[in-house]
Amino acid sequence: AVRTHPSFDDHEHVSIYRDPKTGVEAIVAIHDTTLGPALGGCRMWSYPSRHEALDDVLRLSRGMTYKNALAGLPHGGGKAVIVADPRTDKSEALFEAFGDHVETLGGRYITAEDVGISDADMEIVARRTGHVRGIRATGLGDPSPYTAWGVFCGIRAAVRHRFRRASLEGLTVAVQGLGHVGGRLAALLHADGARLIVADIDTDRVAEVAARCGADVAPVDRIHAADADLFAPCALGGGLNAATIPEIRAKVVCGAANNQLRTPGDAAALVARDILYAPDYLVNAGGVISIAPERPGMTADEMKERIARIDSTLSFVLKRADAEGVSPAVIADRVAEERIFEAARRKSA
Ligand code: NAD
Repeated sequence: AVRTHPSFDDHEHVSIYRDPKTGVEAIVAIHDTTLGPALGGCRMWSYPSRHEALDDVLRLSRGMTYKNALAGLPHGGGKAVIVADPRTDKSEALFEAFGDHVETLGGRYITAEDVGISDADMEIVARRTGHVRGIRATGLGDPSPYTAWGVFCGIRAAVRHRFRRASLEGLTVAVQGLGHVGGRLAALLHADGARLIVADIDTDRVAEVAARCGADVAPVDRIHAADADLFAPCALGGGLNAATIPEIRAKVVCGAANNQLRTPGDAAALVARDILYAPDYLVNAGGVISIAPERPGMTADEMKERIARIDSTLSFVLKRADAEGVSPAVIADRVAEERIFEAARRKSA
């Protein structure tokens, strides 16, 4: 089943590990290590089948190759999934066994937390392997504030490019999802002078942000169509699709959510509607940039300065996209591939 998966061949390594004590399965996928050891989180999810777990881990590990390359990190892309229910199946033995498996890979894959995994879980993994990032011993802790900061830097670059403005003053931003990233992004936008329209399925969060930032509230199924200059998707993926794109009124889409485009064709649909799309994995890289350093040392302010390079990377991508008449999503992929290709060429020279 593994070897016949269509995405298997473009990966350097895929291993499936079954914990003998619990019977729980974990899959580690290393997509590409040309730029350095593969860095990417571990997700815990009760996938209905191994095939679906494999689909997810292969897609995500490939995505990390592109994200890390574009962020200028000395890391390739990889990802892990543990096929179990995070509400009921967690145990120390399970995370220790996962740590042992990561250790057998000798540092080619470096893990971190992702959906379904907490700080505390990763601390257990770290008992068995040093190839863990984003825990207290190695860095600055929770990556979400850094992700929000990076998205904000991306929004400023997009606003400069599209509206020729240096701040958000006088512009309206629609924020979809007010969680760890969206809630903090709303505060940054508010402080920079933006008017906000917000939506979340969690009504307490909506009430809190509305009060704190003087935001207007939109229904969750209409936030994409809000009368705003900019739309920031910060909830789940797939929000840019054939149903929503024709209804978007904003001239810029720039947000934290992973995999915002449901299909690659949706990038072209946004170009056709003259909507600037800031590639999700370019602008949401602040979190992975913040966990990448091997040892603590950088202060939070130094890290924010490092992450602010997202501004110049996005500006470069947007200019090239205009010049070539294609979506910034296409250019972002191309820039990442060029960096990997160049590194491979230097290595073999
Ligand atoms: P989170 O779970 O803290 O927040 C998500 C929020 O979206 C929640 O408040 C939830 O109630 C809300 N939501 C869910 N469905 C919704 C809907 N249909 N309409 C409106 N709101 C909805 O997650 P997060 O850490 O803030 O991450 C947000 C997005 O950013 C995710 O797509 C994540 O993959 C991506 N991302 C996060 C980080 C990070 O550092 N946390 C890094 C890179 C990418």
